[in-house]
Amino acid sequence: VAIAVTRERREGEPRTAATPDTVKKLTALGASVLVEAGAGLGSSIPDADYEAAGARIAKDSSAVLSKADILLKVRGPTAQEISALKPGAIVVALLDAYREKDTVQAMAKANVTAFAMEFVPRISRAQVMDALSSQANLAGYRAVIEAAHTYGRAFPMMMTAAGTVAPAKVFVMGAGVAGCQAIATARRLGAVVSATDVRPAAKEQVESLGAKFVAVEDEEFKAAETAGGYAKQMSAEYQAKQAALTATHITKQDVVITTALIPGRPAPRLISAAHVASMKPGSVLVDLAVEAGGNVEGSKPGEVVKTANGASIVGWSNLPGRIAADASALYAKNLLAFVGLLVKDEALALDLEDEILKAAVVTHGGAVVHEGVKG
Ligand code: NAD
Repeated sequence: VAIAVTRERREGEPRTAATPDTVKKLTALGASVLVEAGAGLGSSIPDADYEAAGARIAKDSSAVLSKADILLKVRGPTAQEISALKPGAIVVALLDAYREKDTVQAMAKANVTAFAMEFVPRISRAQVMDALSSQANLAGYRAVIEAAHTYGRAFPMMMTAAGTVAPAKVFVMGAGVAGCQAIATARRLGAVVSATDVRPAAKEQVESLGAKFVAVEDEEFKAAETAGGYAKQMSAEYQAKQAALTATHITKQDVVITTALIPGRPAPRLISAAHVASMKPGSVLVDLAVEAGGNVEGSKPGEVVKTANGASIVGWSNLPGRIAADASALYAKNLLAFVGLLVKDEALALDLEDEILKAAVVTHGGAVVHEGVKG
C-alpha cells in the first residue's frame, strides 16, 4: 500500500498529516510512505526526520500523487492534486464537506474515494480517530493564549507592594471540547471563569472545572440535547431569554470566548454588536466559530477587529494551526488509527459496511454518497 502525504496548499495551513512517529507506524502496517519535500516545515518537522522514520521524500507533488493508494491531508486536496490522483485512490482529510462542495464534486468526478475526518462518528471505538476533538481541544487552549496576548491586563490576581492587580473575568460560551479546554486554561492562568451552554449535561462539566455556570435553565433547556450529544437549534423564545441573560452578564466580563457550533448549520449568533458595545474598553472577544459565520457580530475571519468602545474581536481562522506542531502530532495520530481501518494484512481492504467508514465516506465509485452532503 502506497501512502502519500503532500504539502498543504491552502492558505494559512501550517499543519501536516503525518509525523515521523506516524510514518514509522504506517510503515509497520506494511505501507510505503511517500512525503512531498517540505510537507512538515510548518510544524517544525524537517524532511530528514521523515526519512529517518522510513519515508521516501519526493521533490514534487505529482510524483507523490500518481503513485498513491491513500492520500493523507489536513485540508481537502486542491483541484490540481485531485487531477494527479489515480482513479480509485483514497483521500482522507478534514474535508469541510458541507462547505467545500467544489472539492467534493471534483473528487467524485475523478473517481476518488474520499473520507471526511469530521464525519467520524463519536462512538468509543472511534475516539482515537476523533480529529474534531483533538483539534478543538488545542483551539480552546490557544483561544485563551490569544486572549491573554491581546488583553492589556493580567489574568491572575497579583498582590504586590505597589498594589493589587485584579483577576480577569473570563466568560466561555459553548462548553464542548474547545470550551472546556478554554475554561481549564483560563483557570490555570488565574482568571475568574464563568461559562454557558445549551446542553444541560454541560453544567456539571463546567462546574467540575471550577467555573460558574450561567444559563436560562427552563424546560426547553432541560430537553435540549440530541442523542449524539450535540446541541439542538434552540427556539427564538429561548434565544431571546438567553440574549437577555448574556446582556447583563457580559458587561461585567473582560474576556469572552465563544465556541458554539451546531453541526451542518451556521453558528448561532450569541453576541450582538450591542453586547460588544456594552463591554469595557480593553476587553477581548475571541470567536472560535468565525469560519462558520461567527458567534460574535462583527467578527472577521483572519482579523482582530477593534470596536469604537475599545474592545477587540479576535477572529483567527485556524487556531489549531497556531499551535501547529502539537495539532499535527495529534491529527496524524487520528489519521494513523483511521488508516488502520483501510489496511488489513499489509493490503488495502475497503469495507464500506464498517460503521465508521460508512459514516465518513463522502465520495465513492464516481459519485457523492454522503446523504448530508448530497442534500
Ligand atoms: P461543538 O463543537 O459542536 O459545539 C461547541 C459547544 O457549543 C457545544 O457544547 C454546544 O452544545 C454549544 N452550543 C451550541 N449552540 C449554543 C448556544 N446557542 N449557546 C451556547 N452554547 C451552544 O461541540 P463539541 O465540542 O464537538 O462537543 C459536543 C458534545 O460531544 C459534548 O457533549 C462533548 O462532550 C461530546 N463529545 C463526545 C465525544 C465522544 O464520545 N467520543 C467526543 C468529543 C465530544
